[in-house]
Amino acid sequence: MEVTQLNGVGPALATKLDKLGLRNVEDLLFHLPIRYQDRTRLVPLHSLSPKIACLVEGQITSSSLQRGRRVSLRVSISQNGASLGLRFMHFHAHQAKSFTNGRNVRCFGELRPGPQGLEMVHPEYVLFDDVPPTLADQLTPIYPTTEGLSLTRMGQLIALAWQQLEQGTLILDELLPQQLINQYQLPSLQESLRQLHYPHVHADLHLLQDQVTPAKLRLVLEELIAHQLTLKRAKQQNQRLPAPTLALSKHLEQGLIENLPFELTGAQQRVWQEVATDLTTPVPMVRMVQGDVGSGKTVLAALAACRAVDHGCQVAVLAPTEILAEQHFHNFSHWLEPLGINVAWLTGKQKAQVKRQSLAAIASGEGQVIVGTHALFQEAVEYQHLGLIIIDEQHRFGVAQRHSLVKKAPPGKGLHQLVMTATPIPRTLAMSAYGDLDHSLIDELPPGRKPINSVLLNNTKRAEVIERIHLACNSGQQVYWICPLIEASEVLQCEAAQDTAALLTQQLNNIKVGLVHGRLSSAEKAEVMAQFKAGHIQLLVATTVVEVGVDVPNANLMVIDNAERLGLAQLHQLRGRVGRGQAQSHCLFMYQAPLSAMGRERLDILRQSNDGFVIAERDLQLRGPGEVLGTRQAGAVGLRIADLMRDAHLLPEVKVIAEGYISYPHKTEKIISRWVGENQAFAKV
Ligand code: ADP
Ligand code: MG
Repeated sequence: MEVTQLNGVGPALATKLDKLGLRNVEDLLFHLPIRYQDRTRLVPLHSLSPKIACLVEGQITSSSLQRGRRVSLRVSISQNGASLGLRFMHFHAHQAKSFTNGRNVRCFGELRPGPQGLEMVHPEYVLFDDVPPTLADQLTPIYPTTEGLSLTRMGQLIALAWQQLEQGTLILDELLPQQLINQYQLPSLQESLRQLHYPHVHADLHLLQDQVTPAKLRLVLEELIAHQLTLKRAKQQNQRLPAPTLALSKHLEQGLIENLPFELTGAQQRVWQEVATDLTTPVPMVRMVQGDVGSGKTVLAALAACRAVDHGCQVAVLAPTEILAEQHFHNFSHWLEPLGINVAWLTGKQKAQVKRQSLAAIASGEGQVIVGTHALFQEAVEYQHLGLIIIDEQHRFGVAQRHSLVKKAPPGKGLHQLVMTATPIPRTLAMSAYGDLDHSLIDELPPGRKPINSVLLNNTKRAEVIERIHLACNSGQQVYWICPLIEASEVLQCEAAQDTAALLTQQLNNIKVGLVHGRLSSAEKAEVMAQFKAGHIQLLVATTVVEVGVDVPNANLMVIDNAERLGLAQLHQLRGRVGRGQAQSHCLFMYQAPLSAMGRERLDILRQSNDGFVIAERDLQLRGPGEVLGTRQAGAVGLRIADLMRDAHLLPEVKVIAEGYISYPHKTEKIISRWVGENQAFAKV
């Protein structure tokens, strides 16, 4: 039953619902509240606590305009001797006048600490004189909505869908195995949905939001199973067509290993074996190699490339940024050309004529290993015989993008995928977000690396920091100065970096300062990086474009400005640019005071640990999976009611249950479409 069959739902509304992935009436029933508000009772003013949204009432005792950076309206209310302040930043003159002393006001809002105790900023409110407004008779569910679709309207639509269910015009299939229902004594699907959409007036709000009640558990299990099945199916799709069998052939591989100026670490050897084993079978490899920054993933990629080339296959090496692609191109050329392998290069910013040449070399097979950016999977690129794709820094690419490269395999053939990431993804998340990938972990750094010494510094210590840079540069060391995103705009970010570079050039006499940011052309960026690598530039001021992969061992001091604004994973990545040489490295995280308690805690984690996995786990606890994975992957995870942290313990069992669905393709389809819906297309590609 489509949503348009509901009363009052026309095409315009249907389009809005579609944005939320709601197409059928059934979808509405599975559009669950993200939280609840309690408007059923008044909280006395003398028992308020911060950060909680609640309904309060009081008599107005004063109302005044306050001048700060901008004018705000402050209203005081009192009740039985206790008082509370209300604050409005945006208001009309008539609104300000309406708060007359002696009138009553009822407000709903979140309480925050203000200059004079707790206050409510921009509460919803109703003024009244004698008759108080009525209270809600049940908890108010808060649903995700989209622009132009109010919460009230959403509630009404869900109520309409609910009616269909109660009247029996809509029937929900039971999709969980009976045995599971018995084991956990789960309530029926309808009862579970009722408890979430229409919680009882006496239901405890915190219990409802934070605890897994049996009703909730039932839906959590359904969702996790649906999710697991989606991933399984994605993997099957990925492996439908046979890939070339790349059996052991020592020729090129051995050549590469012999030419390396170092021995592979134990971890590198183990992971290489895992990869090599995958390559020898026609089942397409879909493997992710995780390894902290500097753990030496690139050489493994080069080994895999050798194996493929030895069998006459082409290899595409995909990097997320021009700088990184450039660097890979250098590394791969340096390692592979002596073995007689032709390494080609393709990016979106190449001049038309150069690009035509690259494309021709790729199509003819002359280009054996092709390094590049997104350009690699564009329509116009035709490969002669692509057999292996290597994707560096996976978290920058979505599943869909990965798949557009897979489609470049010869007709009717599959190919092997090697995905490399330095983002340490906690195990629970990896299981869910990357369930379609096998994992290998490089859990050892090359020998002789000294742990980076990290320090937190108040921005007021800037002068000392600059002095320190001076000393470092004068003793032949190199330094990074990172200016992170300050405004959500690339232009402003680049301007900030430009300003900083100008200022530092002024303050650091005789020191050669370079600047790299996202608005430089790739040639310009490459030029600056080359100069830095060659030591001609001593201090490199950069935006976060240097985040991934850049390798300059002589740089051993990094300053990160406004560190409190960046995510932990990103800071850890940035920091990984130093600590690559013999000398002791330092990373100075400069922050703008005052630092919130959370801000301090986060930076402290970085100061205390150099282990990407520890940092990722803590980041996950502090910020939640959406933030840790970045928006794209969060979208891919896209859970409605399950919570990967809270429900992680269910995952092993969910995996087993999901296996049991193999014999029921019909049920599999249904549960996937019920829970994953819109994202399904995304995961399927
Ligand atoms: P990442 O895993 O961050 O991509 P890279 O592949 O860039 O790391 O390697 C970091 C540095 O370590 C490079 O200079 C690389 O040549 C070097 N390296 C890699 N493996 C080893 C090893 N086994 N012993 C010593 N140095 C190594
Ligand atoms: Mg790398």
